[in-house]
Amino acid sequence: MKIKRITAIVTVAVMLIALSACQSSYTTDIFAMDTIMTITAYGKDSEKATELAKQKIKQLERLFSVTDSDSEIGNINASTDFVEVSYDTEKIITRALEISNMTQKAFDITIRPVTKLWGFTDNNPHVPDAMDIESALNTVESCRVEIENGKIKCTGELDLGAIAKGYAAECIRAIFDQYDIKHAVVSLGGNVMLKGSRPDGKPWNVGITHPQNSEEIIGILKAQDTSVVTSGGYERSFVQDGITYHHIIDPKTGYPANSGIISATVISLDDTLADALSTAFYVSGVEQSAQYWRQYGGFDMILITDGCIYITEDIYDYFQLKDGSFSVVKLEK
Ligand code: ADP
Ligand code: MG
Repeated sequence: MKIKRITAIVTVAVMLIALSACQSSYTTDIFAMDTIMTITAYGKDSEKATELAKQKIKQLERLFSVTDSDSEIGNINASTDFVEVSYDTEKIITRALEISNMTQKAFDITIRPVTKLWGFTDNNPHVPDAMDIESALNTVESCRVEIENGKIKCTGELDLGAIAKGYAAECIRAIFDQYDIKHAVVSLGGNVMLKGSRPDGKPWNVGITHPQNSEEIIGILKAQDTSVVTSGGYERSFVQDGITYHHIIDPKTGYPANSGIISATVISLDDTLADALSTAFYVSGVEQSAQYWRQYGGFDMILITDGCIYITEDIYDYFQLKDGSFSVVKLEK
């Protein structure tokens, strides 16, 4: 009799452990910021937290859109005087300007006069007139942004396209913290935000898109509690007169970046930084990016050129290459 009871208690204990491992989860899709996003969260409040995350993305899209003239960015771009803005707009612009300075303007949110000419956001991409690029570059060059608590003045025009999804991921992470969500995965186009590990305690497997064939993956990165953000020319491009042009612009030339990098992935718990740096590194190339990493640290990266993959030492053992035709270089401090 006694033995039987012990067995029963053990059985209940095992069942409880099994139940806590397969906790409730909630998944939702949303089309925003010009991409399909998928949010999956685990835990008691996963539905509530995920729905709030969705609302936050929609709210940020309304604030940051460059095509919507009623957005706060639209207001800033239409005016040369101070414009009242929300907490989120002030915060993202302040951060973007900091990163812009640190990357010697390889990442530059004042690039809008140039990106507007290329027409990617108006579904009319085409090669602009060289004279128009020249004059847009002058506007970018002389652009001044002033921030005065709650108000922003910009003499040129802003484009948050390279940082908005990272900032959205950061906001979602904060919502998940508030609702005690310990495991979640949020995919925002080329941005993947990971909260904690998988519910079974193992790291997540993040597929890195093959830059020469975006239907396939070039490798898998095991990661947890971080953001994995990839910038690639393959995300948005068009062909004119047999030449392919993509949407990441080198602010020094006004033309699509041509640094030799065809895919730049940045891995950092700082979701906003990961997004901005992935664009910056795509523009500035392997050597300058490695130099930046050695100087500042605080993130990892996977840089891909035609035939070679550069991986920072701390994640080297967590990346599994699927395409053997690429050689791998470990970047050391
Ligand atoms: P994606 O939006 O495809 O994930 P990125 O994060 O690299 O890719 O952002 C690219 C977008 O950022 C472009 O569509 C454009 O709006 C803007 N952009 C292009 N070049 C730059 C640049 N050098 N600095 C800042 N923003 C840029
Ligand atoms: Mg980016």
